[in-house]
Amino acid sequence: MNFELKNAQKIRSQNKSTIFDKILVKQAPADIIYEDELCMAFNDIHPQAPVHFLVIPKTKIPMLEKVSKSDGQILGKLLMVAKELGRSRAPDGFRLVINNGRHGCQSVYYLHIHVIGGRQLKWPPT
Ligand code: 5GP
Repeated sequence: MNFELKNAQKIRSQNKSTIFDKILVKQAPADIIYEDELCMAFNDIHPQAPVHFLVIPKTKIPMLEKVSKSDGQILGKLLMVAKELGRSRAPDGFRLVINNGRHGCQSVYYLHIHVIGGRQLKWPPT
């Protein structure tokens, strides 16, 4: 096993359980809108727009900055699922957001893509 992969696994195993870990194994309730062998999508509990759901990988990554080269495939998969669901649920357009760390306003340390739409969004975000 190469150093990068070992290090990534170490970081992941050290990470504490989050609410998304519990949603993933159905120990916490969620309005799940999509699931396959690699990822899950569910509606955000505090939606910021008429459409607001989260897409998470089934293999835990705490945050975007911890992604390693070996995670490229799952990142692509998350984007594809976000795009497909976004297009069908918010046909007039939508936005993807990944908050990273304290300044990025990340509150749940389990990597997730926000998909937000269903109304006119503003730019820049504040
Ligand atoms: P972050 O700030 O980490 O980017 O986003 C975390 C998101 O998870 C927030 O939008 C928050 O509303 C959502 N969230 C937190 N707890 C729960 C929960 O128990 N269920 C669901 N569905 N969403 C949650």
